[in-house]
Amino acid sequence: MGPETIYANWRPEHNARYPFSTPAKIFISDLDLTLESLLSSRTFGMARSRAKERVIEAIEEGKVGGKWTSPDTPDPKRLNEIISYPLARMIVSCISDEFLIRRYALAEAENVSAFLKNEDDHDILFAVGKELGLDGEKKENKITVGFHDFIEITKDMSAVDWKLVNQDLRQGMVYLDKSKFIRLVKERVYHEILKDLPISVNADIEESLSGIIDDVIAKLEKMKDKFVDRDLGEVEEGLFPPCIKGLIKKQAEGQNLSHEARFALTSFLHKIGFDEDQIIAIFSRSPDFRVDLASYQIEHIIGKVSSTEYTPPGCGYMKTGGICFKPDSLCGTEWMNHPLTYYSYKKKHESEEKD
Ligand code: SF4
Repeated sequence: MGPETIYANWRPEHNARYPFSTPAKIFISDLDLTLESLLSSRTFGMARSRAKERVIEAIEEGKVGGKWTSPDTPDPKRLNEIISYPLARMIVSCISDEFLIRRYALAEAENVSAFLKNEDDHDILFAVGKELGLDGEKKENKITVGFHDFIEITKDMSAVDWKLVNQDLRQGMVYLDKSKFIRLVKERVYHEILKDLPISVNADIEESLSGIIDDVIAKLEKMKDKFVDRDLGEVEEGLFPPCIKGLIKKQAEGQNLSHEARFALTSFLHKIGFDEDQIIAIFSRSPDFRVDLASYQIEHIIGKVSSTEYTPPGCGYMKTGGICFKPDSLCGTEWMNHPLTYYSYKKKHESEEKD
């Protein structure tokens, strides 16, 4: 399929929705703008404000506040939306903080995913996928992708419904529904944005954007403080099963937790009602805690990235994975099959004893 065919149904509003796309880049390049005007002219003041909003919303809410642009959206609004994207990348690159870069990339990916879900025209989905090296094709009311692409994109996705054995695989092609195809595109957007950041920025860019950069850094620091200093309130850690206590202790001692262990700990805490910040606060006890990595992993597990909320593993999985530590007498009962069962039993008995 040639480029003309890929973009046959592409309209100006799509440039604003997908500002990383080739047509959007061509559009900007045809405007023949100077960097100086982008950074300091009054004409692009709104675009700079929107760029700042993109980054701050990414920090605070994990979104970039993308507005759905239609054929009726006035040209200046569309232009601001498109131009705000490269400007936002410049802001992020000037600060060059790993946590910010990951959070921003994730927020942009989230935005693309939300827009794609709203697209009725499959050709737009395929054009965006193609931009990112993912060829999709409509077949039998499904979207097919090559199984090599599928494996490469899903390698870090641990949910069973992403395992190749659980896919409709025929003659080297994986048949997906629209939401799963969009999920793959989202993963690609995230990694592509991450790969390119930080871009190279010179002193003139830093100087011109210094006011915005100071504001963004202030928000960033506030967010990091919030994660690390979070008060856990009335968490009944004493009632946790031995496995979960053991995992918390290990990571507090700076021991490396396996993927299975992190998954078990995060999904357990999430299931009993911890929010993302509280889970990060638990992980922040580790001496080598990195808020950016912890945040990314946690967001994956609690469903912010994949929209799949994972169920904590049962005792069988924990035993097989070598993370069932020092089981006690309650663990030894014949009905004990899950750390959540352990916790609810303890909570119930605790409240009965208080009554
Ligand atoms: S038996 Fe189950 S609840 Fe008890 S420590 Fe092992 S995994 Fe945890």
